[in-house]
Amino acid sequence: MAEKVIKDDQPRVYFDCNKCPAFCCSVYERVGVNKRDINRLAKHFGVSPEEATQRYTADYEGERVLKKVKDVIFEKTCEFLDQKTRGCTVYHARPTVCRSYPNRSRCAYYDLMRFERIQQGDESVVPQIKITFHEVEEETADYADGPERVYEWDEKER
Ligand code: SF4
Ligand code: SF4
Repeated sequence: MAEKVIKDDQPRVYFDCNKCPAFCCSVYERVGVNKRDINRLAKHFGVSPEEATQRYTADYEGERVLKKVKDVIFEKTCEFLDQKTRGCTVYHARPTVCRSYPNRSRCAYYDLMRFERIQQGDESVVPQIKITFHEVEEETADYADGPERVYEWDEKER
C-alpha cells in the first residue's frame, strides 16, 4: 500500500499509488500482522520479535494489528506511513496484507478519488472516507402482501 512500484499478478492496473494519498493505509480500522510479519519488522528494525510486537503493534479485539497515529489528511493512518510523501517507510518489511492489496486490477478508493476530483473540478480534493464493517442478517419476513427480504442489525452498532 502506498508503495512506489505495483507488483501483482494483474496484467494491467487502473490505479497509481504514486498519485494516491494512501487510503488503504488509513481508512481501515486495522492492518493485521502475523508472526512472520512481526519477524520481518523485527529484523528490519534490528530488535527482537517481542520488542517489535510491543513497539509497533496493538491488540484489536484479539487480533494483532499495526499501531495507528493521527494523520494530516485522514483521521488516522498507519504509523509507518510517511505523511508527507504518502509512501510506506517500511516498504521492504511491510506486512503480507500490504503486499497483496488490492489484489485486483482496480482500487475502489483510487476510483472514488478520481471520480470526486472530476465531480468537484479540483485535482487536489481527497474524499474523506472511514470504512467499518457490521454483520447484517438477512431474513424473510411474512407480510400481509407476501414475504419480503429484510435485513436485521444491532441497533447499538449503527
Ligand atoms: S488506496 Fe489503492 S491506489 Fe491508493 S495507495 Fe492504496 S492500493 Fe494504491
Ligand atoms: S506498513 Fe506500509 S503499506 Fe502497510 S499500512 Fe503501513 S504504511 Fe501502508
